[in-house]
Amino acid sequence: MASSYGTSAKDFVKSVKEGSADVKEFHEKFLERARKLDKQYNFFLTIAEKLEAHKKGRLYPIPVSVKDCICTRGMQTTAGSRILEGYVPVFDATCVEAIKNEGGAVVGKTQQDEFGFGTFSVNSGYEIPKNPHDPDRSCGGSSGGAAGFTAAIGMPHIALAESTGGSISCPGSFCGVIGLTPTYGLVSRYGLIDYANSLDKIGCMATSVEDIALLLSVMAGKDEKDPTSSLSKKEDYGKLEGRLKGLKIAVPKEYFRIDKKISKHIWDSIRLLEKEGARYDEISLPSTGLGLASYYIIATSEASTNLAKYCGMRYGKQDAMEGDYNEYFSSIRGKYLGREAKRRILLGTFSRMAGYKDKYYIRALQARGVIIDEFNKAFSKHDIIIAPTMPIIAPKFSEIEKLSPVDHYKMDILTVCPNLAGIPHISLPCGKEKGMPVGMHMMAGHFKEKKLLDAAYGFERLHS
Ligand code: GLN
Repeated sequence: MASSYGTSAKDFVKSVKEGSADVKEFHEKFLERARKLDKQYNFFLTIAEKLEAHKKGRLYPIPVSVKDCICTRGMQTTAGSRILEGYVPVFDATCVEAIKNEGGAVVGKTQQDEFGFGTFSVNSGYEIPKNPHDPDRSCGGSSGGAAGFTAAIGMPHIALAESTGGSISCPGSFCGVIGLTPTYGLVSRYGLIDYANSLDKIGCMATSVEDIALLLSVMAGKDEKDPTSSLSKKEDYGKLEGRLKGLKIAVPKEYFRIDKKISKHIWDSIRLLEKEGARYDEISLPSTGLGLASYYIIATSEASTNLAKYCGMRYGKQDAMEGDYNEYFSSIRGKYLGREAKRRILLGTFSRMAGYKDKYYIRALQARGVIIDEFNKAFSKHDIIIAPTMPIIAPKFSEIEKLSPVDHYKMDILTVCPNLAGIPHISLPCGKEKGMPVGMHMMAGHFKEKKLLDAAYGFERLHS
């Protein structure tokens, strides 16, 4: 429900600049509402005592929630894991620093699956966020708290989130908000607690494409502290026209082998775009079927390496040392890491072991190369690809309980390929099924965020 402040961050920044809004009162009301919602839905791990913002900049005075895997100076950062409970960074992640410099106010740290391992946020080491459309259902994952809060707050706000294999799009789709995952390397990862370094991307969620563009303009660009951040020039993504005439859309048939009721919403949306002058071709991306296996091999291989540092010595929880080092490391990791984290350590360690790595890890990297080539080929003829974001609507917790770990992984079938390829993608609400939101994915070629956001803006205007 929209508040008297509206929901658009962009418009609110403007009205504050014009002097027509009381920022102190807005911040107080915002925090009060955030606390109330958190009690009901468990969106946060930590909430700020007070909202503080530099009095100038492109974001002043917008509250920004930050996924808990992104470091915030002076505010507990756990990545949803008990092994990092009590960790208070002495520095801000580069993206958080940029947000603060532009007048954004950090609201708090949003709930997630431990280290990003999950699709429903049920693997958090803390509390499980509930979907504001139906509290018996999941917000999606791993950025569940970010999406749920963005959907529920009804006041100007933008969420900072992260995706490795779909963690922005999936919860965006389940909660009916917009989620952007930028090109790998466009936003600095400095200060992000790694899940899988070659896949992790920081992105954002909001209730309008303009607000997404606003935050991206603040965060994107080269950072000396992250050698994998791209050399691309700082761009202003804010000038959106929403041009749909002549837009060339590709619709990959492999992404539509899902529930007909869900794909119907996507087709209805494509037809809507067609009416405005866009053209579409059905295409094939035959290596889509390689996505899940290669993603879970690469992601767990990298994750198992990254998690090795949490052993009770320099990083994470420490206990009184008993036994030899091996016994001590095992007891700390046994006690403070969750089941899914342990499963991924085992999977990842296995697939990169001498003797197995050629069979699994190296082959997964080869498959990733094929997937990237297929996308590049599609984008040589088309501006964007359109597909459903998720094969299902947000499931009930009682349904999730019945799923095996492999069933969980299978839910990522539509999100892993764009993440493996590192291409930008955005999930947009495009309808409802059983009263729950359905998301549509738009993808574009590497560093084509401007084109992607413009098409998304055009669609948003048609749909709302
Ligand atoms: N569901 C995927 C996984 O469990 C993606 C998570 C993510 O993007 N952080 O790995």
